[in-house]
Amino acid sequence: MIPVLVVLNAGSSSLKFQLFEREGDAEPRLTCKGAFDGLGGAARFIARDAGGVTLGENAWAPEAGFGHEEALMHLVSWLREHQGGRQLAAIGHRVVHGGEAFTGPVLVDDEVIRTLESLSPLAPLHQPHNLAPIRIVRRRLPSLPQVACFDTAFHRTQPDLATLFALPREVRDRGVRRYGFHGLSYDYIASVLKEYDPRLAAGRVVVAHLGNGASLCALRAGVSIATTMGLSALDGLPMGTRCGAMDPGAVFFMLREMKLTPDAAERMLYSHSGLLGVSGLSNDMRVLREQAAENPDARRAINLFVYRITREVGSLVAALGGLDGLVFTAGIGENDAATRAEVSARLAWTGMTLDDAANKAGGPLISSGAGPGAWVIPTNEELVIARQTSSVLRTARARLAS
Ligand code: ADP
Repeated sequence: MIPVLVVLNAGSSSLKFQLFEREGDAEPRLTCKGAFDGLGGAARFIARDAGGVTLGENAWAPEAGFGHEEALMHLVSWLREHQGGRQLAAIGHRVVHGGEAFTGPVLVDDEVIRTLESLSPLAPLHQPHNLAPIRIVRRRLPSLPQVACFDTAFHRTQPDLATLFALPREVRDRGVRRYGFHGLSYDYIASVLKEYDPRLAAGRVVVAHLGNGASLCALRAGVSIATTMGLSALDGLPMGTRCGAMDPGAVFFMLREMKLTPDAAERMLYSHSGLLGVSGLSNDMRVLREQAAENPDARRAINLFVYRITREVGSLVAALGGLDGLVFTAGIGENDAATRAEVSARLAWTGMTLDDAANKAGGPLISSGAGPGAWVIPTNEELVIARQTSSVLRTARARLAS
């Protein structure tokens, strides 16, 4: 029987999954991907093979009360029925916050779950959703190994100064410091840089993960030395619906003068700010691009996004002491040539020269000349989770055998 790993990424009403075959030490191989969405309401399930051919589809009426637990059990029985000859070896979960306790992937047990629950206040909009399926599987399929893979862990290599807020010790002692996120994406990019240019892999690179969530990471020889996100996934760049870096004084103004409750202020900063808040139109870059010529607020939101990216790149170039390459990745970074062109134009001072035709064609190399290279590299966070899950299982087996 070929062992398969399931990689899960759980949201509030969705559950995305990918299946990887894993033979020995070889790189895990994607065989199937799919999603449940509308969980808790009109739920839908779809699974496709690696080539995009539909393998299974279902829909449930809202009265069915089909939630995360039903979705997980449906997935397991669907796998048993449709993935004959394969044996479910483990589940790898994307977990946004590993805090100070977890600086690498970990085999889940009850103690690990308790520690991860204690980190929920640091990522209130993501962590509880990431943990829900872990708890369900622990209860319903207790002998199935589960591995938690963290968005924070890749940034464990940041020097102390890059992680410090200038706050008193009693606050720092509660774990209030800069962690950084999108680490699974940066891990993937760092792992493939040498295939694009060995000088990049050894050099000073800024990676721009520009999706609905957005951040930048400074890599020196493939290792994170600074990043724009901090304690929570709110810091740094403006995002689809999140505010990015702002004066904490603005929060006190919202609480005192606008009489917002802490929960309402949090909702505003996470869900009604960023591209959506500034444009008053959408968090979706495609919509903003379509409207930008006629709608000044859409144009302003894009301009702010680009301006903040280039300012933060400048800060990371200072932390790196120079720049050898800039990598664009995630939904906007991989697909939006206009954002790449606008960012590159503002970074002309670095010596970077955009190659317009290569940029429109999507790269991978989109610059020319002797200055820092600009690149488009598609990310693959699920593959990193599959790699990490596989490696944790190997280590656990080796320990048992010795
Ligand atoms: P998430 O952080 O949810 O994984 P993605 O990485 O999928 O998000 O990125 C979503 C963003 O990518 C959206 O703003 C979307 O508009 C943008 N995007 C996707 N495709 C394109 C495209 N062809 N042109 C411009 N923007 C795009």
